[in-house]
Amino acid sequence: MNLVILGAPGSGKGTQAARIAERARIRHISTGDLLRDAVAKGTDIGKRAAGIMAAGRLVPDEIVLELLRNKLMNDEERSRFGGWILDGFPRTLAQAEALEGVLDGAGEKIDGVVCIEIDPEAVVNRLSNRRTCASCKAVYHLVSNPPAVEGECDACGGKLVLRDDDKPETIRKRLEIYKKETLPILALYEKRYRVYRVDGSKPIDEVMSKISGLIGL
Ligand code: AMP
Repeated sequence: MNLVILGAPGSGKGTQAARIAERARIRHISTGDLLRDAVAKGTDIGKRAAGIMAAGRLVPDEIVLELLRNKLMNDEERSRFGGWILDGFPRTLAQAEALEGVLDGAGEKIDGVVCIEIDPEAVVNRLSNRRTCASCKAVYHLVSNPPAVEGECDACGGKLVLRDDDKPETIRKRLEIYKKETLPILALYEKRYRVYRVDGSKPIDEVMSKISGLIGL
């Protein structure tokens, strides 16, 4: 099963994508994680992307597409999993069209699109309280989903950090970009694929069971 998950920053799409991937035994491919890895490793791509990401802007399409294509087409991973869920890609109409090209070339297709809907005002609260594990990428919320030990990941003991782009001044910028650049993809996908809309303001487990029911997990 191949899925795309869409949703504003802070809608919970990363958390839900990880759960869906685990339950469906498919790959969770997050372009944000791929870019953050590149930044952490100091690769050429990472060096080009770091400042752009910290400012909450979009990394140029060709850079993200290269990362995505390499990951998507990784033969070893393809043979181990029965599909994928894309999280954070596509983010522009141009990326959506480029994705069709990559998938056509690989003989794959999108089976469904999950869209998590949320009020932008709720997002600022969520993201400024979000903490992400620097090593395993697990996500916490200081109020609604805190770690057992402050500053420490429950899963791996890694250090929990506030992402540069989760600072309040950057969040509004990211929301603006989502509305202008990413939302138009939804209209396109409504015409091409089955789109499952869920209310992202609900608790994590509730959103997950709603998605599971809709996509038949
Ligand atoms: P995310 O973890 O999905 O919120 O992504 C974090 C940041 O990485 C974004 O704010 C962008 O700067 C960059 N990024 C992630 N995915 C993309 C993409 N598909 N296109 C452009 N920039 C991206």
